[in-house]
Amino acid sequence: MPSETVLITGGGRGIGAATARLAGRRGYRVCVNYRSDDASALAVVDEIRAAGGTAIAVRADVSRATGVERLFRAVDEQLGPLTALVNNAGTLERQARLEELDEDRLARIWAANITGPFLCAGAAVRRMSTRHGGRGGAIVNVSSAASRLGSPNEYVDYAASKGALDSMTRGLALEVAGEGIRVNAVRPGLIHTGIHALGGEPGRVDRVAPQLPMGRGGRPEEVAEAILFLLSPAASYATGTFLDVAGGR
Ligand code: NAP
Repeated sequence: MPSETVLITGGGRGIGAATARLAGRRGYRVCVNYRSDDASALAVVDEIRAAGGTAIAVRADVSRATGVERLFRAVDEQLGPLTALVNNAGTLERQARLEELDEDRLARIWAANITGPFLCAGAAVRRMSTRHGGRGGAIVNVSSAASRLGSPNEYVDYAASKGALDSMTRGLALEVAGEGIRVNAVRPGLIHTGIHALGGEPGRVDRVAPQLPMGRGGRPEEVAEAILFLLSPAASYATGTFLDVAGGR
């Protein structure tokens, strides 16, 4: 395992941070990407290094091609050949009905949740595909149960962006199946992270938890386990698939 290098977008907080910590413990060299919260990302890197692992933090907006290029170059130069990508960075905005959504908001959501994963997946394929001289690898997209549920009265735009990510998971998986790259997705349900504050309701998980089949929200670490499974050789014959980590939702 020491030859594995993983890039986790949005690895500074929430699900991405839990995934970075677990990957570090499993022996991956880890790149923790983030957009602006230096302190959180550096804390994750410090924790991995303190446990004897290898990790770097790279601040870059993955919704911009320039940021993505700089991010992947940093991995090439500082960690070595990329073998795994977790397209985790994502965002949402204030809870609203569809008729209240304007052009600027839609552009921001598509850029962060669709363009970002597309650009990162492309950069990863150019490095990992046997077609490009690479030695293969794995990509895990962090979608959402929202892609199935639609998120009415909250953020249909966010749900639709995750629907696009699901389609990309299928399409790209088939495109590169013969080139040594597996592409899968996890679809988390309600997970205790800071993302819900962006929607204007930091306590959303606790409000909805009683209505969930398991009666509780999920922990970022529970999603991280699913992501690491899909990246690992234990999932060597799985591609183009979706693993719901949503407590039965
Ligand atoms: P979070 O706690 O808000 O963390 C988001 C992370 O993504 C942060 O590290 C943030 O950077 C980074 N980020 C956001 N936009 C970025 C960009 N354009 N470029 C680079 N980094 C960016 O969110 P989370 O709840 O862990 O969510 C992670 C993923 O899981 C998202 O794709 C989300 O849609 C998905 N998900 C979450 C839930 C849930 O209930 N929490 C459920 C289903 C799916 P900074 O730290 O610098 O701000």
